[in-house]
Amino acid sequence: MNETGYQMDLLKAMNQNLSARDRMYRLICEMTGGTFLYLDASKSEIITIGNWSEYFDFDVRTKRDLERLYEVVDEPYAFPLRELICLEKSGKESASLECLCRKRKTWFKFQTRVVYDAKGNMECKVISILDVTKHKLQSEELNYYSFYDVSTGLYNRNYFIRLTGEFIQKAKTNHKVVSVMMIDIDDFHKVNDGLGMVCGDELIQQLGAFLKELQQENLIACHLNSDVYCLAVYDPKDDYTVDEIHRAITERLAHPFYLSMNQNVVISVTIGVAQYPEAAQTASDLVNCAEIVLLKGKTSGKDAFVYFDQPILNEFRLGLEVESKLKKAMHGKEFELYFQPQFYSGNKKLRGMEALIRFRDADKAELGPSTFIPIAEKNGAIIPIGNWVVEEAIRQYGEWQTRFDARFIMSINVSARQFNQDDFVDRLFACLQRYKVDPYFIELEMTESILIEEFDLVREKMRLLQSKGIRISLDDFGTGFSSLSYLKKLPINTLKIDKSFIDTVLTDSATRIITESIVDMVKSLGFESIAEGVEQEQQYKYLHAIGCDVVQGFLCGKPLSVAEAETLLRSQTAR
Ligand code: C2E
Ligand code: MG
Ligand code: MG
Repeated sequence: MNETGYQMDLLKAMNQNLSARDRMYRLICEMTGGTFLYLDASKSEIITIGNWSEYFDFDVRTKRDLERLYEVVDEPYAFPLRELICLEKSGKESASLECLCRKRKTWFKFQTRVVYDAKGNMECKVISILDVTKHKLQSEELNYYSFYDVSTGLYNRNYFIRLTGEFIQKAKTNHKVVSVMMIDIDDFHKVNDGLGMVCGDELIQQLGAFLKELQQENLIACHLNSDVYCLAVYDPKDDYTVDEIHRAITERLAHPFYLSMNQNVVISVTIGVAQYPEAAQTASDLVNCAEIVLLKGKTSGKDAFVYFDQPILNEFRLGLEVESKLKKAMHGKEFELYFQPQFYSGNKKLRGMEALIRFRDADKAELGPSTFIPIAEKNGAIIPIGNWVVEEAIRQYGEWQTRFDARFIMSINVSARQFNQDDFVDRLFACLQRYKVDPYFIELEMTESILIEEFDLVREKMRLLQSKGIRISLDDFGTGFSSLSYLKKLPINTLKIDKSFIDTVLTDSATRIITESIVDMVKSLGFESIAEGVEQEQQYKYLHAIGCDVVQGFLCGKPLSVAEAETLLRSQTAR
């Protein structure tokens, strides 16, 4: 091959090589979605690589053309972009800069890199331009979700707690108060169930929109969940009080919310208020306290507005403590029955014994049934506890019957939830059979609260039990709704006059009149009357004189342990 032929082949090979590289660069640029500008310091021309024409409608060939870039990006970004493009100052190896610029709806990330020669003069510069609009929108969306609630546009819980924390910091410095108001729509489920979830959602949005309008410099609102909202108020001038906000809410709620399909609803809300520094020191504790107060408000009825106070918190904490103790106790032997004797007022003979539950936790500390029974009723633990009481009382009775030939009435307290169980009657009779106890010796004590909901069903169950020989006793009479008219509709054998009457029967003439009329009425209906909580001889004498059949109380006998009750039974059989 001659010299010229060799030169030609070499050039061809170099060209092929170059176009292959060029294609490679273009492919890489296309894949990254970006475009690049390359400036060689020794030449005046600028090379553009990648999707330049997709984003910019002018060509860049010289440094002057670059200035067009400052004009096309939105104004606030022009200055940082100029700084980036002009980066040239001398350096050792390389220098780089980056900035984010918006060009109408598109976001670009500009990056520049300058390479210097050994003397520190610029050798070349690359400017990369990347379309990051998609990422930017995604991160903005994510940002939104981390601060706001989608359904109402109010703050979400986390961000609300952060802002409330900032209020608390300010209040700490200025010795001021921060109030958190937790707002819950009363009977929201009725809207949701009755009108449908679309209406439910609309109601939540509309109330949210109203609370949003209340927002101002020191008042923020958040949608906590479902139908629960929270407001936090920092009141540096003591001129925007919780009561005023409450008034504004009440005024709004006096008017209906107009929902789709021509539905309109009038609602009420329950509000719990907890304030820094009284209730708690941190934002999340403050929100928790407001929730506890709200729950308290819910139990006392609708449309309630309740302020935090220490007893509410104590009661709540005790509830939690007892609940966890009960959970542990269900597996152990922490329960025990005591038996309080009842005596006929006439001959002072033993009429019966009331089984009263006792609970000792793992540390042997005793917890009274008045404390734990209501909690067990709420969380459902009363079912296994109540079943245990029924079984244990009947078992004990069976044992005493054989050992002492005892024939008295065993009274067992039964709570509404337990009584309403479908298998209650079957369980009871299975126990009676197991321990060979006659139903005539068993009495079930129930309070009037059992009749509140399903009067007819309860009455039918009572009738069934009574027809099989079980006695029914109405406990704590006088503390509930005490309607005398329903008494004659009920299949009851015994009525227990509450201790609160006995306490004042000697000193208060009104109580005396009521007690006497109860005893008379009970007699005329053919029931038996028992006075509870008889502590004094005088009370006993009076009760006997007015014709009360039976007395029960510390005067004649406190609740007894099994051993103590056996001593009593022995003495009774010896008589
Ligand atoms: P209750 O059924 O009205 O029981 C009478 C309560 O008054 C008992 O309290 C008893 O110890 C107390 N007591 C009796 N005589 C006197 C007295 O002269 N003076 C005073 N100060 N108190 C007297 P206890 O045992 O603390 O029971 C409280 C309540 O707990 C019971 O009231 C009953 O409602 C409930 N309870 C107790 N045991 C059971 C149970 O096994 N099951 C259910 N469901 N409830 C129970
Ligand atoms: Mg009782
Ligand atoms: Mg009672």
